Amino acid sequence: MSVSIDLTSSAPGARPAAPVAAPASARRSLLGLSREEMGAALVEAGIPPKQAKMRVQQLWHWLYVRGVRDFEEMRNVSKDLRATLDQHFEIARPEIVEEQISVDGTRKWLFRFPPRGAGRPVEIETVYIPEEGRGTLCVSSQVGCTLTCTFCHTGTQRLVRNLEPSEIVGQVLTARERLGDFPDAATPQGAIVPSEGRLVSNVVMMGMGEPLYNYDNVKAALAVVSDGDGLALSRRRITLSTSGVVPMIPKTGDEMGVMLAISLHAVTDELRDVLVPINKKYPIRQLMDACRAYPGLSNAKRITFEYVMLKGVNDSLADARELVRLLKGIPAKINLIPFNPWPGSPYECSDWDQIERFADLVNQAGYASPIRTPRGRDIFAACGQLKSESERMKRGDRLALEAAVAV
Ligand code: SF4
Repeated sequence: MSVSIDLTSSAPGARPAAPVAAPASARRSLLGLSREEMGAALVEAGIPPKQAKMRVQQLWHWLYVRGVRDFEEMRNVSKDLRATLDQHFEIARPEIVEEQISVDGTRKWLFRFPPRGAGRPVEIETVYIPEEGRGTLCVSSQVGCTLTCTFCHTGTQRLVRNLEPSEIVGQVLTARERLGDFPDAATPQGAIVPSEGRLVSNVVMMGMGEPLYNYDNVKAALAVVSDGDGLALSRRRITLSTSGVVPMIPKTGDEMGVMLAISLHAVTDELRDVLVPINKKYPIRQLMDACRAYPGLSNAKRITFEYVMLKGVNDSLADARELVRLLKGIPAKINLIPFNPWPGSPYECSDWDQIERFADLVNQAGYASPIRTPRGRDIFAACGQLKSESERMKRGDRLALEAAVAV
């Protein structure tokens, strides 16, 4: 049985509510800024330019190494300066509307961000997947998505807006806080987490949205996440997954230097046009050329190709052979993803035997192709199932999905 913790309620059994974000304010968020931007912001707020660099170092340490969420906790910062910071800036993280915990230890948070300008508050989902030796955080880049991949539940939710760098970094900080992954923080009793090392050891930009359609904000956020004096996640442990925005792929390698994953799912243009409609704009051949030329590509830095297994649609052995042919010459890994159902989806998951036959063929061709064990299905946290809860409730999806999962 999964556990759902509604952090807005005081119902018996609910964990005490985490401190929530301040209401929308005119104060600028310091989260997600580069050191240069932070320094300039401090000077604008009246901090002497000569002090700015040192203050940035202090703030960086408190925000990203210690994980504090209040200026008052910054003990080596004078009271006056803390007051100045509080007057001009905020370091608020998203409001946690709900935290759900799967039987397999996967956690899903429904986060709410305050309105931007005249907009409304928005909600997104972030998922933590603990495994032996690592903990992966699946981070969202947009509220909804403009692309309409037909196997993906997020694709049925219209795009509301891009997430800001502060909101992308805020997902990582909040997940680490909830898991007790900061110094002196306690991990919740009974939580399933890696037995050693960092609890959030990997980040995948694979949540809601197409990260390359929010390029600048994703790039800024990942620069903060990978900064060696802060959150310090190696770029090799950060993977950006794209549906195939071909013109942005070389830039991603050059400027972000992160690992690349491609949401491939089909080996012919005819089928990919349906499953991943951006293929009509950037067909498979162009996509493969961009992958072959991905900066830094090597056997130690392979591209991951995601392939969702859809019964009778893309799961034949002829498809597997064509997949091997397509990837020839590209240092690659193939992730086979058993399809995760959602209400109204036109597809079924391939039979397990067929998935294994497909995997064997691809493995024999020399591609490591693990079958990704479905994780967090009972809390709708599996690949392609993310959606903001309000959308889910609005569409009456939740009950239907619960029924589907219970079968
Ligand atoms: S798979 Fe990714 S790009 Fe496609 S609809 Fe879903 S969130 Fe958007």
